[in-house]
Parts: sequence; C-alpha cells; structure tokens
Amino acid sequence: MLHHIAIVGSGPSGLFCADALLRQRPDLKIDVFDRLPTPYGLIRFGVAPDHQGTKAVTRQFDRLFGGGSLRFIGNVGIGTELPLARLMETYDAVILALGAHADRSLGIPGEDLPGRYGSMAFVGWYNGHPDFRDIAPLLDRPAAAVIGQGNVAVDIARLLGKTAQELAASDLTAHAMAALGSTALTDIHMIGRRGPVEASFTTAELAELGRLENLRPVVAKADLPEALPAGLDPAEARVKEKNLALLHEFAARTDEKPVKLHFRFHSAPEALLGTGRVEALKLKGSDAPLSTGTVISAIGYRTETQGDLPRANERGLLENDEGRIAPGLYVVGWAKRGPSGTIPTNRAEAKAVADRILADYNGDARPARAGSDAIDALLKQQGLAAIDWAGWKRIEAVETAAARQGAPREKLADWTGLRQAAAG
Ligand code: NAP
Repeated sequence: MLHHIAIVGSGPSGLFCADALLRQRPDLKIDVFDRLPTPYGLIRFGVAPDHQGTKAVTRQFDRLFGGGSLRFIGNVGIGTELPLARLMETYDAVILALGAHADRSLGIPGEDLPGRYGSMAFVGWYNGHPDFRDIAPLLDRPAAAVIGQGNVAVDIARLLGKTAQELAASDLTAHAMAALGSTALTDIHMIGRRGPVEASFTTAELAELGRLENLRPVVAKADLPEALPAGLDPAEARVKEKNLALLHEFAARTDEKPVKLHFRFHSAPEALLGTGRVEALKLKGSDAPLSTGTVISAIGYRTETQGDLPRANERGLLENDEGRIAPGLYVVGWAKRGPSGTIPTNRAEAKAVADRILADYNGDARPARAGSDAIDALLKQQGLAAIDWAGWKRIEAVETAAARQGAPREKLADWTGLRQAAAG
C-alpha cells in the first residue's frame, strides 16, 4: 500500500505534488530530499532576487512543512551520496522533482572562453547558489551580450541594468551587489535568433525593462512589423500584440540614460572570438563582430543526473509516461516536461501526477515500507549529515539577521557557512 513517499527535490514542482497528495491522503508520510542544505530550489536560486512577490509561494510550503506529514531532508544527494535504489527499497513510491540544472550548450566555437557564462551559473551566482558563488564573472568591458529572448534573458538584462537603489529591497547577494555596482557596462545586447513576434518573453517582464532608472531599451523601428502575422493562436496573439505595442513604444523613445539595452532580432550567434577571454561575438550574416567582454547564454536548460538516477533523453528530460518512469518511480516539473512555464504551471501538472500515483496504488495490497521510520538510521549508517527543517530554520535566522536595511535576507552562499549555520 501507499504510505511512505520520498520526493527528490524541494522546488515548486515537488512541493506542489506533496501538497496535492496530502490533500487527498492526509495519512501519507512524505520525506523531501534535497542536495542543498536549503529548501525551495528554483524559488531560492532561479526566481529573480527583485521579484520577491513570486517567492511568496514559500509561505504556503512553509505551512505544509509545519503540518507534521512532510519532512525536509537537506544536504543529501540522491544518486550520489545515497543511491536511488536504497530510496526505492525504503519508500513505497519515489518522485523525482529534480528540475533542470544544466545550461544548454550554444554549440559554437569559443563557447568555453572565460567571459561566457550559462544562465544557470550566472543566475546561480547572483542568487547565492553555493556551486556558483565563486565564478567571479568578468563584467569589466563596456558591452555585454545576453543570448536568448526569454524571461531568463530579461531577468539578467534587468539585473545588469538596475541601480543599487532599485535593488535595495531585493535579496540579491552582497557579493553580486558589489560586482554589479562596479561594472563598466554601458551597452547590453539581447540577442534573439528569431523576430520580435517570436521572442518568448512575456509582457509584464518586457514592460519592466521600460521602467528602469538608468537603462533605456533600444529597439529599431525597422525591425518591427506594424501588425501580427495571421494564424496565431488567440491566447498567444493577445500576448504578442501587447509585446509588439511595447516594442513600438520603446522604439519611439529618445531619452538618454547611462545604460542602453539593445534588442537585436534575427541574430543567431556564430562564434565567440577572443584570445584568453571573450572579446567579441560573431553573429551569422554579419561581417562586423560585436565587441563584448561578457556573453551570457540564457537559452534553456537540461536535466542532468548522476549515479544511479535515470539519465535524461536527447530533449534533456527524463523519459516518462504521464509522470511514471517505472513502477514506484515518478517524475514531475522540468525534469518531466522540460524547462517551460511559470511556477503556477507546476501546480496543475503536479496534481495530475499525484492523481496518477494515487490511482496506480489504488487497491495495492502489498505491505507499506518503513519509509520515514527507517531513513534516519539509513542516513546515519551511510555517514550522511542531513539537515532537517530545524536546521534550515537556523540558516534562515542567520540570513534574516544579516539582511541589509530593507532587504528580506542576506543569503549564506557557501557550503561551509550553510552547514555551520544549520548546525547552530
Ligand atoms: P525560453 O523562454 O524558452 O527562452 C529561451 C530563449 O533562448 C529563446 O529566445 C530561444 O529562442 C533562445 N535559444 C534557444 N536555443 C538557442 C540557440 N542555440 N541560440 C540562440 N538562441 C537560442 O526559456 P528561459 O528564458 O530559460 O525561461 C524558462 C522558463 O521559465 C520559461 O517558461 C519562462 O517563461 C520561465 N520564466 C518566467 C519568469 C517570470 O515569470 N518572470 C522569469 C524567468 C523564467 P527560440 O525561441 O528561437 O528557440
């Protein structure tokens, strides 16, 4: 029978799935594992530090963890430190909510030059992810290029362009605040391989770029169609229509600001040029390379796994049948469908996977496994120092106490500091 469930990954998809399961089966016992000492995955490390409203969903998850049926087991890498096979012997069902942590590759020459960063690393750096805390991105030249025109590219361009005052109430880490406050940037290029109608940023995010104190969006009117092409799906057309109107409004601006954000459409990257570091970006069909000291690719993510976790397919996600990988093993979120959608997208999808799990076990007469009753002894036996909810709360208390004036927290961004704070 279904009684003990392990969820691997404490980001939004895993926690929405836990919520959906517990709403229907409050008797279940669910343990949520994370490789990091801190919960919330993408909410902590992906969502932009100046979008605190988006992070408010953690309050709902906090209540879930306080309910007595859900436990946090951080600082334990499943697949590497604790094999998935052991988890599957211990729990009745295991749900992989791993997210997508590997940057997609541009696949062009020069990609490995210093000065080129994937968005996972760059966003992780400014958001205090302990794996990326020390990448020290080169931001010493007047121009930077962001490749991609999705909402992650918009987040990065906005963070590069905001003033310290505009970032004061964010939880941007102190190391990133200092680095972003002392760049030489005057020009940011946002490079899209397709046109303004195809760009995947959404309207609210685009509009925000038009309200920044020091940054002016620069759009060439000649790049913009007057009207949308026929045949778009009506919901999509509504978004594209608003985006196009905003881009026309940007194109009409003439005010001077210290930083310009150039929207470049129909510009596919061909090579990164430079000796020992990025010095220029060559775009297809253009003879004059764009001079830039930094190139950040924000072109999407892949799920990558280690140890005995299942491997991602060529699309970068875990092969599954509506959330089921194998008997007793399930997947939700970006590892299931790829890196798309907003946080609320995961709510409905996780509910569907929860329903599928409950249906699969309906009438299952096998005895329940030991689950949370056995896991503490197993972790101890493996020599793993798990961080529980109380440990996370100690980290949170340290972060809150260290916050600069007006900010919600100053994140601990190194493994040692996190583990020490958790230990008290
Ligand atoms: P995305 O929306 O899929 O954008 C990826 C961008 O990279 C697209 O412009 C894509 O162009 C481009 N691209 C892909 N491969 C490329 C290549 N080889 N060369 C050049 N360009 C390439 O993904 P994302 O920005 O990473 O965002 C992931 C998800 O999180 C999205 O659903 C997004 O909306 C969501 N998100 C939401 C928010 C928010 O709500 N505020 C913030 C951040 C992220 P093509 O279109 O031509 O493929």
